[in-house]
Amino acid sequence: MNYEVRVDTIGHYLDVCMVYEANDIMKDPVLLKMPVWAPGYYLIVDYPKNLTDFQATDTKGAPLKWEKVEKNGWRVYPTSSSFEIRYRVFADARSVAECRVNNEIAFIPTNGVLMYEEGQKEHGVEVSFVLPDNWKHVSTGLQALDSSEGKIQKFHANDFDELYDSPVLMGNHYVEKFAFQGKHYELALECPDGLEESTFREDVKKIMASATEMMKDIPYEKYCFILLGAGGGGLEHRNSMACYTSGSFRFESEQSYRAFMNFIAHEYFHLYNVKDIRPIELGPFDYDKEVFTPMLWVAEGFTVYYEGILMRRAGLSSSDDFLAFISDYIKTIESQEGHKRMSLRQSSYDIWLNFFNFGKNGKDVRISYYDKGPILGLLMDIEIRRMTENKQSLDDVMRLLYNRFYKELKRGYTEEEFWNACKEVAGQPLDLMRHYVDTTDEIDYAKCLQYAGLALNQDTWQLVRIENVTPLQEAIRKAILSE
Ligand SMILES: [Zn+2]
Repeated sequence: MNYEVRVDTIGHYLDVCMVYEANDIMKDPVLLKMPVWAPGYYLIVDYPKNLTDFQATDTKGAPLKWEKVEKNGWRVYPTSSSFEIRYRVFADARSVAECRVNNEIAFIPTNGVLMYEEGQKEHGVEVSFVLPDNWKHVSTGLQALDSSEGKIQKFHANDFDELYDSPVLMGNHYVEKFAFQGKHYELALECPDGLEESTFREDVKKIMASATEMMKDIPYEKYCFILLGAGGGGLEHRNSMACYTSGSFRFESEQSYRAFMNFIAHEYFHLYNVKDIRPIELGPFDYDKEVFTPMLWVAEGFTVYYEGILMRRAGLSSSDDFLAFISDYIKTIESQEGHKRMSLRQSSYDIWLNFFNFGKNGKDVRISYYDKGPILGLLMDIEIRRMTENKQSLDDVMRLLYNRFYKELKRGYTEEEFWNACKEVAGQPLDLMRHYVDTTDEIDYAKCLQYAGLALNQDTWQLVRIENVTPLQEAIRKAILSE
């Protein structure tokens, strides 16, 4: 299957043409599907709602019979081994998981635009993007098939999971390419207003260096930072990230710059945690329906913890910034009644109900793994360091999961395998931590934090340092705070 995507900047449409060629003389019906959700965006988006003008023709242009058989399924009845499909996709959404086309750019999350054949997702695919007359760039983590900067740029994906994990930005946006640690990088910025190129690029490098130093492997050849204009949200991918910004790179304060770089660190670290180190339910993907997992508190919550850790290791925040960063999550969780009603584990399952559910009673009955997950990240890091006299840490759990499941077994981890990996690193099971994940019982902060020479001020919910600590407490505190 080969695709060609053209842009209608006036009507806000993407025009898609797919050429299907089978090796043999084939006359069996073909079921074409379009995903209804995007990995990382745990919501049924129903992409086929944007599709219109579906046509199937043979290679001479004669119409073929087809029928809609599911909300996201089209059955085509070919008369020979090759045929063509054409359709249009309306593209006017401001979301990291949906398409947007205007006079200047086209942001294309491919899973909302390109169809796959049922049962054939593991096949390679080529996609050509046709640039409108005055447009120059196609930015994506996908592998380019020719290095030309021509009007038609061709890319290859090894399978549909890779294709759907690779959003594309077309237009006259700001592009900067650079090499670092033997890999190729592209900054693709819709609104570079106020950008201080070298400061931003060097700070991004510091974040990447602290992540790759921890994981000791870089699993891509090329990585693309797609930073969109004013809007909300970011979505992680293995070879790229797509993030909305404030629409400008002028920051009001150091704190707002730090918050933005935290966001970049978060999406970047996801290439390890959730894309490679992943709950077993998250890939290969079923794009037809919700995929439930109890482990998003690790995939998302630990990524929040590590955004704070990596920023500190990169020298882009202070240890007091890091303590304040975690304190904010403790305050959020402990001041919400929801923490007495929903466990961290359950918040993972229920994300499909609550992704954009901000009902009035929300804080009374629910919690978010984005808030409680990083707290467990800190407590588990401390617990493993306590159990091993600071010789092992949560970093070792992440590396073990990466090397064993992603590199060796080439699959995700189950819930039991996650806890067993923690046990293997710590030398004993993390029973208390698992209890805090699986239940709504109150966390004994004083007990858990003291091993790192820390305490919680119950009035302000701020983490504070304890005076007069033992050498081990001090060593654990220094290791976590990178002091
Ligand atoms: Zn995330």
